[in-house]
Amino acid sequence: MLALGTATAAGGLAGVGARTALAEPTSLSPAASPSSASSEVWQRLRAGNARFAAGRQRWPRQDPAHRRSLVEGQDPVACVLGCADSRVPAELLFDQGLGDLFTVRAVGEVLDDAVVGSVEYAVEHLHVPVVVVLGHSRCGAVAAAIDLVQGRSEVTGSVSTVARAIEATVRATPADPDPQRFLAACVRTQTARVAEELPRRSPAIRAALDDHGVEIVVGVYDLASGLVTRY
Ligand SMILES: [Zn+2]
Repeated sequence: MLALGTATAAGGLAGVGARTALAEPTSLSPAASPSSASSEVWQRLRAGNARFAAGRQRWPRQDPAHRRSLVEGQDPVACVLGCADSRVPAELLFDQGLGDLFTVRAVGEVLDDAVVGSVEYAVEHLHVPVVVVLGHSRCGAVAAAIDLVQGRSEVTGSVSTVARAIEATVRATPADPDPQRFLAACVRTQTARVAEELPRRSPAIRAALDDHGVEIVVGVYDLASGLVTRY
């Protein structure tokens, strides 16, 4: 059995009433349509990820003045639903600052009501134009589910809830004799399934996608290169 770490659904729901202006050169134009807004946000995240991967981070918006400017409220540009794995912190790998990303993390990006509710909150109340479902290479939760399906291990306790939630992903992924390639394929399947399931489980998220141009972006972060690839 692989160690999965601790699942968390970190919402940061306190102090979310007022929306603060972004002191950010690439902030969205107020006139931007939702679809161009989502495109702008993705370009911003992609640029930040390129800086991170190259070791040229700007470490933006982490100074005391910016921190104080966020006391009255938050105005994140995107929601990132990613794995709780300690190697995949969204703010670092997208080179973003305080208040930029509404981050929800759970091992294997497994959805439960709290995770769905957190994403729904970001879309419906904080009006983020983009939800990034972010898987990562060598995900221990997905590897544990593969071991479970292939009869190599047993899981116990609440960790079994996580592994069993990913079982369907493993069964839906075409077999591959190469274990690492199969794991990578299962990670992609898992992120795609989560992206499909979010609007199915939340009418508010579905309405945001259908009527307000909100976009769900599926990406996989590579632990070695530091790059996020969009699928
Ligand atoms: Zn993981």
